[in-house]
Amino acid sequence: MDARTLEEMIPVQVFKSEVMSWAERIGVEPKEIRLRAMKKKWGSCSTSGRLTFNSEILRQPASFRAEVIVHELLHLKVPNHGRVFKSLVKAYLAQSADSQ
Ligand SMILES: [Zn+2]
Repeated sequence: MDARTLEEMIPVQVFKSEVMSWAERIGVEPKEIRLRAMKKKWGSCSTSGRLTFNSEILRQPASFRAEVIVHELLHLKVPNHGRVFKSLVKAYLAQSADSQ
């Protein structure tokens, strides 16, 4: 890891506070937010309400982080990828685009 890539990363605490502000907006309470290296996924959500994000997300642009955060948080409400889930994801992300 060189200095340049470090500069591009956002701090873990900044990421976690992004997750918490989305959680508040969506009306869910994640039990725990963790970051770790993941090979094939950007995030996962356990049935006990624990969210895990791929630590590479700290290098991704804000709009992409929002997509992954909203996706995982909404799994605390809707555990599948059905029609309801998709329309909620769309609605929340459209809201955030408006407010920026
Ligand atoms: Zn999912």
